[in-house]
Amino acid sequence: MDNCIFCKIARREIPSNKIYEDEEIIAFNDINPVAPVHFLLIPKLHIDSLADVQDNHQILLGKMLLLAQKLAKEQGCEDGFRTIINTGRVGGQEVLHLHFHIIGGRERLPGMIHHG
Ligand code: AMP
Ligand code: ZN
Repeated sequence: MDNCIFCKIARREIPSNKIYEDEEIIAFNDINPVAPVHFLLIPKLHIDSLADVQDNHQILLGKMLLLAQKLAKEQGCEDGFRTIINTGRVGGQEVLHLHFHIIGGRERLPGMIHHG
């Protein structure tokens, strides 16, 4: 995907504050953090969103979740963190390349789900 900003980060065409990289996955700090810890975990492979994953992505998705908790702890989230995957228009996804937000810090995060 030539014009995808996260593909460009994966190809090192634009800089990022990277905290992890292997052959398939990269994690880097969000440019506009909402908490002391806020990084994004992406596959190097371009997948638009969680609504577009296929059976053959199963192992990749598992690896991403395992990394999420490992990196979260390394970044200082010993006492929990939040994982967000915005998906599509309704989910408020702004960058159309699958990414997990990992958010945390010392303070309890505000509630996200409000029952009416
Ligand atoms: P979403 O609304 O889930 O698509 O979130 C996209 C996230 O990507 C936002 O939190 C942005 O702050 C973040 N973001 C956009 N461009 C960059 C970039 N170049 N480096 C790091 N984070 C970025
Ligand atoms: Zn992409």
